[in-house]
Amino acid sequence: MSKVIVLGSSNAVPDQKHENTHMAIVGNERTVIIDCASNPVLRLQQAGVDFNNITDLILTHFHPDHVSGVPLLLMDMWLMGHRRSLNIYGLHHTLDRIEDMMGLYSWSDWPDFFPVVFYRLPAGEMTPVLDCPDFRIFSSPVVHLLPTIGLRVEFMPCRKVMAYSCDTEPCAQVIHLAEGADVLIHEASGAYRGHSSAAQAGEVAQQAGVKTLFLIHYPVEKFQPGDLVAEAHQCFQGNIALAEDFMELDFS
Ligand SMILES: [Zn+2]
Repeated sequence: MSKVIVLGSSNAVPDQKHENTHMAIVGNERTVIIDCASNPVLRLQQAGVDFNNITDLILTHFHPDHVSGVPLLLMDMWLMGHRRSLNIYGLHHTLDRIEDMMGLYSWSDWPDFFPVVFYRLPAGEMTPVLDCPDFRIFSSPVVHLLPTIGLRVEFMPCRKVMAYSCDTEPCAQVIHLAEGADVLIHEASGAYRGHSSAAQAGEVAQQAGVKTLFLIHYPVEKFQPGDLVAEAHQCFQGNIALAEDFMELDFS
């Protein structure tokens, strides 16, 4: 069994139905959280994911809408008796700041705190992040306002592939990450520096030859700019949908 659960789908300004973008990959042996927004414990409870089972945390970049939930997640896991070690992966830029942030909370003084192992990823294309019987994960640097990675997840038994752009302008690295993928989850914040519009996400999906495109990290509530799916369809002929909170993708 492997599945991806979208825990949040909005850009940096969430609403009642859309939390900041983050997600979980649940396999037989590992539960991987990609980014950590707001208080992730609430989202994980609602999604039916036991946060004591979390084995790995991948942090894509050090913007508050992607990492502000880290201290609360670590504290709540500790308070609920978590004892096994937790792996945290990210670029040097990201993890240096995570350690600084946790230092401000004096986490070295938390009694009986579980071990945390940091894996600093080089900023090269298709860097191996995690390899387990359920899935393999690779990262590549993308083009955002500060050092940021996108991801490719290859699910082993079913041989399906999911790619996630994270926050980025349209770029070749995401096309490579998503090459021939079954699913591309691409941001659609808008055509700003360091971000992409829905049409640009469609262009990337078309060039990568993916089957299905999910738009994520989009403006919500009064900022919702119109029909993003129709906009993306101008450039991509495959399946397109908006990612929504608690959407599950089955990769069994
Ligand atoms: Zn960002």
